Parts: sequence; structure tokens; C-alpha cells
Amino acid sequence: MRKIATVIGARPQFIKVAPVSQALAETGAVREILIHTGQHFDADMSDVFFKELGLPVPDYHLDVHGGGHGVMTGIMLQKLEPVLESLRPDRVLVYGDTNSTLAGALVSAKLHIPVAHVEAGLRSFNRAMPEEINRIVADQISDILFTSTDAGTENLAKEGIARDRVVQVGDVMFDAALMFSAMASQKNDVLSALGIEPRRYVLATVHRAENTDSPVRLSNIVAALEQVANDLPVVLPLHPRTATRMKSAGLSFTKVKTVPPVGYLDMVALESQAAVIATDSGGVQKEAFFYQVPCVTLRDETEWVELVDLGWNRLASPAQNGLAAVILGALGTAGKSAHPYGDGKAAERIAKTLAAESCHAATAGAPTP
Ligand code: UDP
Repeated sequence: MRKIATVIGARPQFIKVAPVSQALAETGAVREILIHTGQHFDADMSDVFFKELGLPVPDYHLDVHGGGHGVMTGIMLQKLEPVLESLRPDRVLVYGDTNSTLAGALVSAKLHIPVAHVEAGLRSFNRAMPEEINRIVADQISDILFTSTDAGTENLAKEGIARDRVVQVGDVMFDAALMFSAMASQKNDVLSALGIEPRRYVLATVHRAENTDSPVRLSNIVAALEQVANDLPVVLPLHPRTATRMKSAGLSFTKVKTVPPVGYLDMVALESQAAVIATDSGGVQKEAFFYQVPCVTLRDETEWVELVDLGWNRLASPAQNGLAAVILGALGTAGKSAHPYGDGKAAERIAKTLAAESCHAATAGAPTP
């Protein structure tokens, strides 16, 4: 059995890992060890996903959270190193672009444990974003790069990363959407609890540092969502960072319906029945497309460029006024039909690639007859 240690720590990673962990288990050739860094630790940012998505209890919980990027990443490195040193897995698997991704990849590379990166090659080309730095470093030090899209694969080629390290598998979030949307469709209670009707509300999420940590951008977003709420109910599951930053900036909502972060199934129910989604989340932009809901991305750029090209997504910079008009303008629009995120078998391809490695390793190590 090949030993694979998976390092995760933030909300979107719990969702991405769900189909892959299942597919790895189904190969029968891999034993996965789950390491939770603790980056997201609130019950509604972590536990709910383990319960709803049937994830195994992590084998290790490092309980690292808070502090600036340097402190958080530094403590993760410090706590991860002895764990990986004693485990000595055959491979480490990391996801996306968080500090947990960076720490997992860096410790492994230093210990000469091969790293595979899921959702490789994404680029915003904005190095002011902490996520962009995390991705670039993780891609450089991984020896298998699983890309979700053509754009991801092309970005890696342009950066000179050898083609034989790159495997375009499709998007694991699409796999998760296919796995769980039937369960989510039975959860209409979230809409009635909020007093909203299908296709007659805007769903919003805001959590990117570039928005929450800029008083101008944050107040433009708050003002725009309040303005939209004059025309249509706006529901905003409030990320803890956004709640903290709003409080310190003296901002508050009066018309927007804010709720604490919701579980994945409630989120899918809210996304799939929204009239429009306004978000700065990477995952939510894609999920809007999976459920064929027009999306406005509250950012200057996006990594998921294919959605803008297809007409499902439009960018609206929170540095400027006029966001409300863009959100309302997206009502009733639709983009072209296409399948940029694969066929729902990304996780299976990842698992097969990693299990095949195990066969090669076993064959290489087998005594010659
Ligand atoms: N999500 C959720 N509950 C919420 C907000 C988001 O379950 O209250 C899910 C969402 O459906 C998506 C993922 O979290 O699958 C996106 O994570 P997030 O926006 O935190 O990070 P990003 O995708 O921007 O890295």
C-alpha cells in the first residue's frame, strides 16, 4: 500500500478533498493520512464539512490558526515537519492556494517527499494576492501538477514547467458538485428559513483579503449590496474575517440578510436557486456556473477566465462605484454552454495517477525473476 499524506486546512479544501479521498480509497492501493492544519477551525468553517461530506476524522490536527501570514505559515512548517518526518509518506497531496498548501508543499520538498498539487496552474497574475504566491511556490516544488482547466495547463507551460509533470484532470469541485447536489436539492428549508423564494434573491459572499482589508473596497461592496437589497433580497453568509473587518471599519448591513457561514449543502441549495451570485470566492464563481446562475465577481481579475469568456461571469472592481448596476444587470443573463471543467471524473484520474505510481514503485522494487 502506498502511503499518501494529504495536507488541508481551509474550507474550500475540505470540499475539494471529499471526492479525491473517496476515489483514493476506491483504488484499494493507497492509504491516505489526513492532516488538518487548523487554518479554519470554527465549527461552521470546518466541522460541518467533515460531517456533511463524510470525510474521515483527520489523523492529525495541528491546531494552527490566526496571526499574520508569516506567523501562521511559520508555525505550520514547524508543526508539520516532525509529523511528516515520522510518517515518511510516499507522497504528499496539497490543494489550491492557502497557507496550508504552501506549508504542506514546502515541508515535503525540504524532506524530499514528492508533492502533488491539485488545482495547479491557476494564476490571477496579481502578486499582491497571498493566494498567488502560495500557488506559484506550490507549483514550482510539486512534481505532479493536476490542473483543472486548459488555462491552468497553459499557464504552467508558459512558466516553463515540464509538460510531463502536468496532468490535466478536470476540476474536483465539479466532481463534488455532482456528488452532493442531489443531497443539497432536498435542503429547501434554508430558503424558507430566510424568507426567500427561488430565483428571487441575490446570493453574495465576500472574504478575499484584497476586499476585506481595504476600507474603500469593503465600503463600496457594503454600499452596493445594500443598494441591490432595495430591489431584491440579498443573502450573505458572512465569513468570520469579513465580520471582523466590517466591525473595525464601522460598517454594517441593514437591508442585506447576513447569516453565519453555512454548510456546503445549504450553500449549494442557496447557489443553485439564486437569481444572481455576487462573490469574490474562487469556488463560488465555478459553482454559479455549475448551477447555470449568472455571476458577478467582485474583483479586478479572476483565475477562472473561461467563465468570463463564456459570458457566465463578469468582473466588477470593488475599487469603483457602480457595482450594484453590474449585479442587477446580470439578472436574467446566461452565457454559452460549454464544459471547461471536465466530466466529473477529475478525482478518479488523480487517484488512478497516484495509484499507478504505486504499481510502478512496486514493480521497480520487485525482485527480478
Ligand atoms: N461555502 C460554503 N458555505 C459558505 C460559503 C462558501 O459551504 O458559507 C463553500 C462554497 O460552496 C465553495 C467553497 O466554500 O464550495 C468556497 O470556499 P471559499 O469561498 O472560502 O474559498 P475560495 O474558493 O475563494 O478559495
